[in-house]
Amino acid sequence: MTGIHRVQLLIGGEWREAASGATLTILDPATEEPVTIAPQAGREDTQRAIEAAHAAFASWRRTPPWERSRLLREAARLLATRSEEVARQLTLEVGKPIAQSRAEVQAAVECIDWYADEARRIYGESLPGRAPGQRFETQYEPVGVVAAFTAWNFPVVLQARKIAPALAAGCTVVCRPAEEGTGAVALLVRCFLDAGLPAGVVNMLTGLPQEISETVMDSELVRKVSFTGSIPVGQYLIRRSADTVKRISMELGGHAPVIVHEDVDVEQVAKASVAGKFRNAGQVCVSPTRFFVHRRLKDAFVAHFVAEARKLRLGHGLDPATDVGPLINRRRLAFIEKLVDDTRRDGACLVLGGGRPAGMNRGFFFEPTVFDDVPDEARAMREEPFGPIALISPFDSFEEAIARANALPYGLAAYTFTNSLRLARRTIDALETGIVGVNTFVAATAEMPFGGVKHSGFGRENGRQGILDYLNVKFANIVM
Ligand code: NAD
Repeated sequence: MTGIHRVQLLIGGEWREAASGATLTILDPATEEPVTIAPQAGREDTQRAIEAAHAAFASWRRTPPWERSRLLREAARLLATRSEEVARQLTLEVGKPIAQSRAEVQAAVECIDWYADEARRIYGESLPGRAPGQRFETQYEPVGVVAAFTAWNFPVVLQARKIAPALAAGCTVVCRPAEEGTGAVALLVRCFLDAGLPAGVVNMLTGLPQEISETVMDSELVRKVSFTGSIPVGQYLIRRSADTVKRISMELGGHAPVIVHEDVDVEQVAKASVAGKFRNAGQVCVSPTRFFVHRRLKDAFVAHFVAEARKLRLGHGLDPATDVGPLINRRRLAFIEKLVDDTRRDGACLVLGGGRPAGMNRGFFFEPTVFDDVPDEARAMREEPFGPIALISPFDSFEEAIARANALPYGLAAYTFTNSLRLARRTIDALETGIVGVNTFVAATAEMPFGGVKHSGFGRENGRQGILDYLNVKFANIVM
């Protein structure tokens, strides 16, 4: 379908191969054909990237905010002009339908543009002190070299959400995208370089994470790690950050509940739920997954949901008729197949899908799958599926729905559907999550904070809050 895309490491403003010469091949998940070849960075490359970022920090932190802002705005503009190329690479590497890739690139443009503004709004405080002539002041300072590690499901926007606020704050960056999505992230990083960013301000490492991660975590020069990925890897990085006392931000897994109250138009909500659930084949940290539907509406909800999900077309993401692409790799496919078997065995009723689609033997495709009457004890109700699986279950009272929604250690996103303002307010207040969608599945936007509570992590990305994760606050007690 296309030639193989070759990626290089970016270290100190130069594109280069890994010191060892080793490479990694990335497959198109829809065809299993090689699509990208990237260097496999090791300890030496990582050390060089950290040193380049550290050297660049000395002058970048002093670059006036208006200049940082101008460079970020230019990077956003370049990304917008190259969006079709980036979206296409994204679809080839991670399989999502091209319209969703375009939307992801647009979200990245908006995020960078937003932080171009925030770079100029890093306000300190000035208060009168306790004695005449005394003042108390705060000023914000960049934390230093930042390592940005991200997952593959939204490779471009997840890196943009870290690189943009870090640069706006005056930090320098060593980023490492997931293996899948590497080529698309390289195109993003190129926009920063082409915008005129000084050498070493953004560096990119590619390849499997172990040596990169260990070198970063051991380094005293790296003062902050921002991670997006699974809870187990997040927990490992939290533990590893202790020795060098790094600042950390964790955007981890989710298992979003959806509470459908009794007063809604059930057909409309079921249709919206299908679009929300099967976006990116359900491989979304905020994917709606546990559908708690008021008992009076539940059967109608299932019927409409299944009818709508049956219409979805699976295929290659570059085909504009495709609604759902493949899973990311064979490992995810095996995980989902086992989870579906376990969910059946745990007593849930399979009403749609449940296997690989007939006649699609190449690529990691899995049918949109719907389970009804799923017991809360089922493995899929407790463990993040991260795939095209909807789990539906009835509830009888508000208190019951909330207790079940909050029963897991996850706390990223939740959704509720109701026409009652009072019920919406009560539901928002009762949910233990960082994000609540009311009558919508849109959980992220450049101007508002994104992140979780409990095991879903801490720290926020996007919004005016996002930049604070990259700033230290200094208190000056001034007596004149
Ligand atoms: P993962 O944790 O296995 O991998 C995430 C990334 O971390 C990958 O690039 C991986 O190569 C890398 N990684 C693995 N070990 C590492 C280590 N020791 N040090 C540094 N990096 C390491 O997760 P995944 O399966 O790729 O992604 C799916 C998970 O990510 C899901 O749990 C999903 O909910 C979560 N996620 C969260 C958000 C969010 O914003 N909260 C967004 C997207 C995905």
